[in-house]
Amino acid sequence: MKISKYIKNYIGGALVPADSGEYLDNISPFNGEVYSHIPDSDITDVQKAVEAAERAFPEWSSCGIEKRFRILNRLADIIEQNLDTFAHAESMDSGKPITMSKSVDIPRAHANIRFFATASMHYAAESHHMEKSAINYTMRQPIGVVGCISPWNLPLYLFTWKIAPALASGNCVIAKPSEITPMTAFLLAQACEEAGLPAGVLNIVHGLGTKAGQAIVEHIKIKAISFTGGTSTGRSIARIAAPMFKKLSLELGGKNPNIIFADCDFDKMIFDTLRSSFSNNGQICLCGSRIYVQRPIYEKFKEEFVKRTQFLKVGDPFSPITDLGALVSQQHIEKVMSYIELAKVEGGTVLCGGNIVEVTDEKLKGGYYLRPTIIEGLPPYCRTNMEEIFGPVVTITPFDTEEEALQYANSVDYGLSSTIWTQDITKAHRLAEQIQAGIVWVNCWLVRDLRTPFGGVKHSGVGREGGWEALRFFTEAKNVCVKY
Ligand code: NAD
Repeated sequence: MKISKYIKNYIGGALVPADSGEYLDNISPFNGEVYSHIPDSDITDVQKAVEAAERAFPEWSSCGIEKRFRILNRLADIIEQNLDTFAHAESMDSGKPITMSKSVDIPRAHANIRFFATASMHYAAESHHMEKSAINYTMRQPIGVVGCISPWNLPLYLFTWKIAPALASGNCVIAKPSEITPMTAFLLAQACEEAGLPAGVLNIVHGLGTKAGQAIVEHIKIKAISFTGGTSTGRSIARIAAPMFKKLSLELGGKNPNIIFADCDFDKMIFDTLRSSFSNNGQICLCGSRIYVQRPIYEKFKEEFVKRTQFLKVGDPFSPITDLGALVSQQHIEKVMSYIELAKVEGGTVLCGGNIVEVTDEKLKGGYYLRPTIIEGLPPYCRTNMEEIFGPVVTITPFDTEEEALQYANSVDYGLSSTIWTQDITKAHRLAEQIQAGIVWVNCWLVRDLRTPFGGVKHSGVGREGGWEALRFFTEAKNVCVKY
């Protein structure tokens, strides 16, 4: 398994270039240089992938759960055995610290595959008995050919989070990773060959969202789309897929509140708030970017939070002491910087950060490095506090009452996750019930149990992933009623 200068699609079990022979540049945020090229795929490549998937489906969907379980577990083992290669590729593509790729992204990728391979072994259908009359039993059958489209922030982690339940439940998949971070999906294709995944069961088509991605969404033979990415992309996908009656799962953007009450365990809270603000440069859909702090501890919080943020090391993703690596792209760092400028216009004060790092290390020159940024003094309903920035930028705002905090928290269009810090268990439950979010963490952040439903409300998405929810999404229920 190896990184290549020319990434290939994986169609019908073979590694192939785009039919057009065209390539796109793959730039590393580490130094801003083109370090590889990806196939600029279009409808023709998607068509070939669909044909391969259709050929593979009868055998894959009927070969038995245990056979699928064994192959997928083998795939998980291969990823685990090649941790260093995968982690290096992930950091090179995304700019995230190698320590994170090794401890979070890649371990989670093989955990996803094992989790769903195993889950499918335990997935049972329901039966409903009508006394002295009839019995209903419900089959859960694979859908057929499905599409999985994933973003750049957690590349292999989210790619496998989608394809694993799809494959485990007997579907054949056309998958597209982000064109910004394609390398680990290319390594995964090589791992699939090694694991003995039958040809055409998983097809990976690289390329632009508006070209290859859209061709997947528009293809009549692709019956379901599982998408993770931005809200505006989700909207355009829904516009195409809904009139075609495709099953749709949309995991979209967020602008998550972090509500900190004066009665919290301060040390635990400050440690996790640093993580929830700046892990992966704030480029996790679950990061808490709006921090509301109850007034009695506001000044203490501000002082400690700013101090700890200033200690964070920004720089070489491949150094073991780096906390924040590079942002993912030139375009993205410009977007994040534009929000910092907007915050100033809206009346905010930058307490720390707010500037691009002048790197002294020659090998990092041209990379996209930004100091983690804390802003205060903004009104709760300004654009900086309402729109997703998706970078190492948080705002802090004091509040007085629980009602006020709840009102702030629920004031945006998004509703993905939320965090509550308090030692008052009654207050925590009360708030958890009323907060408009698909995920609520109390006195913790990003504690993930893969069995739980995952997803957002409002503009953060439609549907749920995780556990049985994902297996339900990737299967069709068919009820059989037998009268006796
Ligand atoms: P994006 O929407 O730009 O792209 C996501 C994927 O969709 C990429 O593979 C892209 O090529 C493809 N795509 C783009 N346009 C398309 C189209 N018209 N048709 C089909 N496919 C298309 O998002 P991004 O910038 O890669 O990712 C960042 C966003 O993802 C943020 O908004 C973040 O909050 C969100 N996100 C959400 C979750 C979640 O679970 N809710 C998780 C991670 C990231």
